[in-house]
Amino acid sequence: MAEELALYRRWRPKRFSEVVGQDLVVATLKRAVAQGQLHHAYLFAGQRGIGKTTLARLLARAANCLAPEDGEPCNRCPNCTRILSGQSLDVVEIDGASHRGIDQVRQLREEVAFLPAGARYKVYIIDEVHMLTPEAFNALLKTLEEPPPHVLFLFATTEPHKVPPTVLSRCQAFWLQPIPEDLIAAKITEIAQAEGFALAPGAAEVLAQRSGGSLRDALVLLEQLGRTGPLTPERIEAYLGLPSRAQVDRFLDALVAKNADEALATVEELARRGQDLALFAEELLGRARDRAVAGEQEFLSLLGGLLALRTELPRSFSRRLRLELFVLEHCGLPKTPRRARAETASPASLPEAPKEDLSPAITAEPRAAISEEPGDNESNRGEAREVWEEVLRAAWEARADLGVFLAPAQWAYTDGILRVTLPPGFRYHYESLQEKEVRQALEEVARRFFDPLLAVEVGYAGNEGGGRLSLEEAARLLAEKLEGEIISLS
Ligand SMILES: [Zn+2]
Repeated sequence: MAEELALYRRWRPKRFSEVVGQDLVVATLKRAVAQGQLHHAYLFAGQRGIGKTTLARLLARAANCLAPEDGEPCNRCPNCTRILSGQSLDVVEIDGASHRGIDQVRQLREEVAFLPAGARYKVYIIDEVHMLTPEAFNALLKTLEEPPPHVLFLFATTEPHKVPPTVLSRCQAFWLQPIPEDLIAAKITEIAQAEGFALAPGAAEVLAQRSGGSLRDALVLLEQLGRTGPLTPERIEAYLGLPSRAQVDRFLDALVAKNADEALATVEELARRGQDLALFAEELLGRARDRAVAGEQEFLSLLGGLLALRTELPRSFSRRLRLELFVLEHCGLPKTPRRARAETASPASLPEAPKEDLSPAITAEPRAAISEEPGDNESNRGEAREVWEEVLRAAWEARADLGVFLAPAQWAYTDGILRVTLPPGFRYHYESLQEKEVRQALEEVARRFFDPLLAVEVGYAGNEGGGRLSLEEAARLLAEKLEGEIISLS
């Protein structure tokens, strides 16, 4: 970790003018230094990595500098150089999060009475000040109530609401904002050039987006990835375990084009790679918003649905199923329902059915024995596919989830029995088709297409668990029985 921060340390601003994205705070501090009107205590609040301790250290130097230039520390005088090298006895840094911090605050009470050793101000920088114990706060408060004129307190905190109001009220507080992405990207580009890191187009922007306004996080990423190869948007996203921008865009474009096949294929791909679908939903919403704002009107209509999806997905029992349902709600049924199956189940590639074979709906003339099995002849298979498409469409209309559960299935109809088989990896779909209401709906739909229909058999081609329910499945069934809901599974 220390090594990964090397870049951040090397590029830590030495002058206020080098601080990125905190112009207002910087202007106020420089003015106070230049006019010799410093408060006794300052508090810098805000998220990590946006420059709180950097500002505190700059102010410690500027306040003690023998030749400040327009409020900036000169970094050359004895006071500046001593503080820069960490050798000044007059600048004490205390980590509020450590036990040592508490001792130091106690010690501080005795020390503050003494004049600085060589500088103008005795400066106490207390990082994560909200972590101080109540005793330490009390000790601090006593000195804050009647601060000697030669003492300067500089506090930093990520959680200002945990700082006692009695302390807050004695500070000039600055609420630092996350650093804007474009400023982070520009700084990243500048540093990468100076350090000789290969930065592909768009990489600085992706780093900036992913750093959440923290320049430190962006620089740590730059260093970690820059050492091992050229920085590309894809490498950064893969490193962070995020779906790629290309995947997100492909999915959104598919939604807009009402192309269920393409969207479901992306879901399949994400699930196969074990990617976090809740994170994907988060990315979808952010990206759709960006594209809508950028003037792509068609994305506006997606925002409401994506917002609901992002809220619901983390709580959904099967995130994949919820995402698939979302696709179907937006796009309707896929045109090629066999696709999901072909990818996960039998690798035997089946020839595409010739388009001219496609006849109108087969409902009027049910077949005695048809299936998608490879053993059948070519025209039979084309016809079979048409039948199944009709079945899926009817299933979707009867019950949206029935359509989802059936979409990846293989099927065969012989001797009056419809056999529906879920390929490996679709155990949840299989289990769901066993449920009474779903099962009834399936039989009702099947009866409209297959005559005679003596039975519908639902099978599962996977063998994991040997038929025993997984913890998830058992919990789900139990929750349903009790009409309850699953709070957590661990
Ligand atoms: Zn100086």
